[in-house]
Amino acid sequence: MADIPDCWRGKGDQAPFVPGRPERIPRAASLGALFRSMACCTRCELATGRTQVVAGVGAPHARVMFIGEAPGAEEDRRGEPFVGAAGRLFNRLLKENGFSRDEVFITNVVACRPPGNRTPRAREVRAHSPWLEEQLRLVDPDVLVTLGRIALTYFLPRAKVTEVRGRPQEVERNGRVIPLLPLLHPAAILRNREELLPRMETDFARLRPLLAAARSTLRASGAGSGAGPSIARRGSRRAHDA
Ligand code: SF4
Repeated sequence: MADIPDCWRGKGDQAPFVPGRPERIPRAASLGALFRSMACCTRCELATGRTQVVAGVGAPHARVMFIGEAPGAEEDRRGEPFVGAAGRLFNRLLKENGFSRDEVFITNVVACRPPGNRTPRAREVRAHSPWLEEQLRLVDPDVLVTLGRIALTYFLPRAKVTEVRGRPQEVERNGRVIPLLPLLHPAAILRNREELLPRMETDFARLRPLLAAARSTLRASGAGSGAGPSIARRGSRRAHDA
């Protein structure tokens, strides 16, 4: 970004690479401001292998926030989460359940592609955590959906995705309890489609009723927005535009 001096974005960038930046992540006024800072991040070793940081996308105040594991090759190339083969399956599941990609928010536990698509290491997840928490604070969703083990254990370290998948859990964020629906990762479904796809379809179908229950709880507590049928509360602009 022109307004951030010496911003090193990824492989081949001529700007100097300085590891460990930024040391602290300031509270951002918007997702756009957050992602402009995040584009220059070198807080963990995943920075060295990336083409670019893959920021979250979707409605800036979506009611549903999906959290996956890490960008893959296609995501790294295009700078958008869930756009490869797993992303196409994810989009299909969204559509079948009456959601559009633009009205939910989609992000990952880390925003840079791990080499060879390996699992992100604990120290990388820790380094990225303030960026993820800022996204959670700014989007302030009514329901969280984790995709796979790494996203689930970020919130519930002792949970096993094979045991709790499709069963709503609860986490505390933004001063309130938020329902969390653990799902398998779409990439895992692709590796064992015949066995896992029917389970994923059943689990995914639990999202709509869970969202309706979360909305009525919020309404009863006086915290609801009274929004219409759209699940996006305050517009559905892309997060990068915010
Ligand atoms: S994964 Fe997150 S913390 Fe690590 S370099 Fe990328 S943006 Fe920074």
